[in-house]
Amino acid sequence: MTQNLINTVFRKEVLSLSAYKVAEAKNLIKLDAMENPYTWPEEIKQQWLKEIKDCPINRYPDPEARQLAETIKHTNKIPSQSEILLGNGSDEIIQLLLMALPADATVLAPSPGFVMYKQVALSLGLNYQAIPLLADSFELDLALMIKAIKETQPLVIFLAYPNNPTSNLFNEQDIKEILKIAPGMVIVDEAYAPFADASFINKLPEHENLLVMRTVSKLGLAGLRLGFIAGNKAIIEQLNKIRLPYNINCLTQATANFALKNQDLFDQQTQQICHDRSFVLNQLNQLPTLTAYPSAANFILFKTKKNQAPFIFERLKKYGILIKNLSAQGGILSDCLRVTIGKPEENEIFLESMKEIINSTSSSQ
Ligand code: PMP
Repeated sequence: MTQNLINTVFRKEVLSLSAYKVAEAKNLIKLDAMENPYTWPEEIKQQWLKEIKDCPINRYPDPEARQLAETIKHTNKIPSQSEILLGNGSDEIIQLLLMALPADATVLAPSPGFVMYKQVALSLGLNYQAIPLLADSFELDLALMIKAIKETQPLVIFLAYPNNPTSNLFNEQDIKEILKIAPGMVIVDEAYAPFADASFINKLPEHENLLVMRTVSKLGLAGLRLGFIAGNKAIIEQLNKIRLPYNINCLTQATANFALKNQDLFDQQTQQICHDRSFVLNQLNQLPTLTAYPSAANFILFKTKKNQAPFIFERLKKYGILIKNLSAQGGILSDCLRVTIGKPEENEIFLESMKEIINSTSSSQ
């Protein structure tokens, strides 16, 4: 009975989707979701509490989040010709972008890439084209990308820069080639910008079809749910029509505005994470049978011996550590795991556990 109702009510694309699953992390060292492991010093917390104490939560928030938008433009050096739109996390912006497209539009992104591009495209019944990255370097396969763009005429192309889960920055020239031939919008997703030395933000005025998306999640504010997209004013104006008016709540507005003015604190944390990233990468590569790939983000992708990734993932959980098992996605990600850089003591526990697991498997064979 209920099944009949469900089949009548929901579109077939929705029926065939699986919900995005988030692993239970209770009592585990959480190194699975690219969060910043650090909280704020007590003194900053006290200043923050003062700031939000008088937040008028009986009123709707500023629908344009004007003060926060100004702070974001300033701290992210958004060119004056460009405009920004804020979202409840960049996830919401991905949804907004794709909701605005014609029903038969195609969305294109390299694969492997951030799963939400595909999830949202499919949930809206759009066509989704996944173009494999080069297996040896994780670079864009430019010839294949150009061919697919010409054939499928995608109205949105997502390029995560650095890419999740491969953690590399694609070749800048390749992205410029794509910008030249793309028939629609090219979204350079800079979620991991705080850990990378490259950005397309200053190139916004040169390309009318370029939009740059960022989030405060990886910086240390994942709980707030705040992302933004910057680009051509006329494009942002269209997107604004389908944004729900109060999508950024007043606590997020006040907190993010306060936090971004304490940029020094985030810079220190980010530097620490980048420093520890080199250490973890180096240590992982000392372990027999593992290959860890260089990273421009706050996580490291590594490949295990054939068919060992699920075993290592489960054993790590027994040691109290949660990372991400990507091996089931297959292709380039077969036998791959992803670990987020944590606090030094968390990284140590992870590395020690890895050492024991790898040693125990090689001695038992
Ligand atoms: N883009 C990329 C490339 C990501 O990896 C993620 C999150 N893992 C997001 C966007 C979503 O970020 P937010 O928390 O702002 O929704």
